[in-house]
Amino acid sequence: MKEITGHTKLTGLLGSPVSHSISPSMHNEAFQLLNLDYVYLAFNVQSGTLYDALKGLKAIGIRGFNLTMPLKTEIIRYVDHLSPAAALCGSVNTVINNKGVLTGDTTDGIGYMRSLTEVAGSPKDQVMTLLGAGGAAVSILVQAALDGMKEIRVFNRKGANFDKAAALIEKVHMSTQCKITLDDIEDHDLLAQSILSSNILTNSTSVGMAPNDNETLIKDRTLFHENLIVSDVIYNPRETKLLSMAKEQGCKTLNGLNMLLYQGAESFRLWTGHEMPIEPIREKYFT
Ligand code: NAP
Repeated sequence: MKEITGHTKLTGLLGSPVSHSISPSMHNEAFQLLNLDYVYLAFNVQSGTLYDALKGLKAIGIRGFNLTMPLKTEIIRYVDHLSPAAALCGSVNTVINNKGVLTGDTTDGIGYMRSLTEVAGSPKDQVMTLLGAGGAAVSILVQAALDGMKEIRVFNRKGANFDKAAALIEKVHMSTQCKITLDDIEDHDLLAQSILSSNILTNSTSVGMAPNDNETLIKDRTLFHENLIVSDVIYNPRETKLLSMAKEQGCKTLNGLNMLLYQGAESFRLWTGHEMPIEPIREKYFT
């Protein structure tokens, strides 16, 4: 174990609850592996106390930190700069402190796109059907569009997230070439047509997450055509019902574990300037 010294730089996680998080183990292991003089701690910060926490952390020169909901949106008003993705998403999961100047970034979408690209290759000619319009969906939508995906067809239930996504899509259209549509997930015919003419199907809803392992939004197995890559942002269980059905029909599949690992790796890179040693971290915490 590397010694903590007077030079050790501080990073961490702000949220509540945070004690269950894998992030301290992942980042501290990576610091050790690269012999970097950093430490990552979890801080229990409740909604409404973020400003006070931030003032203290800035004063003591924290290098950077991650945030959990609802702090991901509360932090926006306190940072000095936002990355293009964070500005579009209206959400920050990583803050970098450069001598008192705070920059907010979002790495979930980067994590997802890195994991997708490993399986699907360049997003340039790809058409994705995206189930969901919550936090995970928005980060994927924005990053996929910024990365040059050809087309994204979003399906969600009508309601608050649907309306927010409609406004977001207008903004994304102004800053990227990606064609994005938004439709009611209850329109089963349209959803079926969309999946049949897509080469990526992504579940970014919480449907299928433990303990509801047997749930899936797609029940018709004939939609899992041979050119379809099926991905799920869920990592508990490792194989959702959606993924197991798609696999049985011969589709390539990917779960949410790599997204989780790679979003952490991107935060690590933003704070330290070093690439996280992916394989040992994957082996120890992400199998
Ligand atoms: P969220 O903001 O609460 O959004 C939830 C989404 O699921 C919304 O689109 C919601 O639709 C939809 N949904 C929930 N129940 C539904 C149902 N019965 N039928 C249709 N749609 C339904 O949550 P989130 O933060 O985006 O998280 C979603 C999932 O992603 C969770 O399982 C989370 O663990 C996972 N996640 C994974 C990673 C990773 O690194 N792998 C990162 C972030 C999140 P409405 O808008 O209609 O409610």
